[in-house]
Amino acid sequence: MKDLGEVMLVLEDVRKYFPLPRRIFKRKGGYIKAVDGVTFSVHREDILGLVGESGSGKSTLGYTLVRIYRPTAGKISFLGKDIGKIDRGELKGFKKNMQIVFQDPGSSLNPRRTVEQTLELPLRVHNIDGGKERRRRIRELLSVVGLPGVYMQKYPSALSGGQKQRVAIARALATEPSFLVLDEPTSALDVSVQGKIISLLLALHDEFSLSYLFITHDLSLMRNVATSVAIMYLGKICEIAPTAKFFAEPLHPYTQMLLSSIPVVTDEEETLKPPKVTSTGEVPSPVNIPSGCSFHPRCAKEMDVCSKVDPEMVEVREGHAVRCHLYSEAEITALSSQGT
Ligand code: SF4
Repeated sequence: MKDLGEVMLVLEDVRKYFPLPRRIFKRKGGYIKAVDGVTFSVHREDILGLVGESGSGKSTLGYTLVRIYRPTAGKISFLGKDIGKIDRGELKGFKKNMQIVFQDPGSSLNPRRTVEQTLELPLRVHNIDGGKERRRRIRELLSVVGLPGVYMQKYPSALSGGQKQRVAIARALATEPSFLVLDEPTSALDVSVQGKIISLLLALHDEFSLSYLFITHDLSLMRNVATSVAIMYLGKICEIAPTAKFFAEPLHPYTQMLLSSIPVVTDEEETLKPPKVTSTGEVPSPVNIPSGCSFHPRCAKEMDVCSKVDPEMVEVREGHAVRCHLYSEAEITALSSQGT
């Protein structure tokens, strides 16, 4: 079995709730539960694909990890330190070590700053290099993301979408982090450049031994990119597994629904898909999350218990956990006895 390596990041029951404006929701104490009890860990050089539909809370979770948002509850540990309890000096070190690449490079880059000024800022904030050395470092960063030094004096308006995202990736790498949160890094780009940015991210992962939390709505992409996959639905993780196990035997009805709706080109790909799983309706509003299992209004396998009791996350087999009443103790015993 592969050595999992050093644990980089541990989330324990992390929650992020946003209070509702009272004029919309008159009862006191109303919240949008964007992230509602998320637990997982990421090891060094892992690429954890965090997959979900729009409104699932996956980007909010990413922003909470990099401290754009403070968690409402729960514990986030990075390299063994509880980041909720670290002092200002340690927080600066944490931010140096964990960076984020945003979905839309067009809005994440300041239009009034040249590429050089954009890349200089994190170096200045974290007191990395200075003078000529800093300029050399900026050239090096551009080279790492496949852009020539001549781009230093360009403004974002003179760059294509792919070039902007390369600059955004260079900015994230400026502080030599060990962990990147990638928030849908290709979804705002032309299809023709998405593959090039994915290839760049994978090359950087290997070259600098990086760990990624790769947030995406594209489950099929994760088959070739991620080392593990987690599915998020209305603020909760409903299934998580190493990639091979995940695609070999998806367990949660929502995962099966997502997989069965992936478009395929060849007959061979069609045979790899799980049987067609039908579902009804759209993702419910996070303002009004259904009782019990929040997927029950859309689930073709709903049972009486599902609308009443929220299922616990259960590790069905090593590293493969699922949140669904179908996987009761009896079911797990049966699966284990099959030796799969
Ligand atoms: Fe479907 Fe019930 Fe499982 Fe929820 S707990 S996914 S409603 S079978």
